[in-house]
Order: sequence, then structure tokens, then C-alpha cells
Amino acid sequence: MTSQELLDDLRAICSPLPPEGAGTAGRDPLLAALGDLAAVHGAADERVRLLLAYGRIFATPRPRTPQALGEAAGLTPAGVGDAFGAGEVRRVGRLTGRWPAAADLDDHHRAGISGKESRLRCTWGGDRLNPCGEKPKYAVVDARGAQWACCDGHLPGYLRSRSGS
Ligand SMILES: [Zn+2]
Repeated sequence: MTSQELLDDLRAICSPLPPEGAGTAGRDPLLAALGDLAAVHGAADERVRLLLAYGRIFATPRPRTPQALGEAAGLTPAGVGDAFGAGEVRRVGRLTGRWPAAADLDDHHRAGISGKESRLRCTWGGDRLNPCGEKPKYAVVDARGAQWACCDGHLPGYLRSRSGS
């Protein structure tokens, strides 16, 4: 990823905020001001979650660490992990065009995944002898239709594996 591509992606994710002051005629100006600020706040909060997903999953050659992203966003590293899920990752993929057509991604739910191991840990990364120790966060599907559990750290590898299929 070149620095120009990075800037293009950031522009796509941080699209313009909704117009201010639209339809405020006849409204209580105090409530209108509060409503406008709440809308700006909500939009900014959503962009923060999208940028965190982008920094962890899409930024190459080096995904940003939860520590670095947390420092920039005013969150703990664990808070970074909790701030986005499969929905934000899919949205960033759509906004930036970096989503492989074959990729199948959802949030990890213990009850919704078929493999016994995949209910407990990330099974997409690592192997039987050296299993990935990260908490599973996504349910992903490989080219043969088998379900796996995947962590943030291994999701870029999953997306790369599906981009050619
Ligand atoms: Zn993993």
C-alpha cells in the first residue's frame, strides 16, 4: 500500500459529515444545537470505529498495533478490540474497495460455529501444535465452505487467502 493509497482510503472512510442546521426552522434552538452536536458526535464515533478496523485489518504492509491505535484514539488496547467487529470491517471493505468478493465474514458466536475447537479459539491462524492464543472475534468461511474462527491478527491473512479465489 502506497502512502497515496492510504490517503485515498482515509478519504473514503472519512466522507463529509451530514449538513449542519438542515431543517432547524421553528425548532427550539437549544434542542436544535444539542441535536446537531449529537449527530456530529455520532458520526465521529462511527468514523473512529471504522478507522480502528482499517488500522488493524487493512493497513499494509504493517497493521497498526492495538497499543498505537488506542493511544491515538484515547482507548485501552482491549477497548480497541471491542470498538469494532465484522460489521465495521465489511463497511471499510465496501468504502475502500478492499473487500475480496469471495470473503465471508461474521461476528464469532460460540453457538453459531460448527467446529468444536473453533468455538473456543482462533483456528484460522496457527496449527494443532502451535495454536493461536488470541480470542476468536470472527467466523470466516474458506474456499471449500468450511467454517473457522479468526482473530484480528489473522484476519488480513484470511482476506488475502480469499482475494484470489
Ligand atoms: Zn489468530
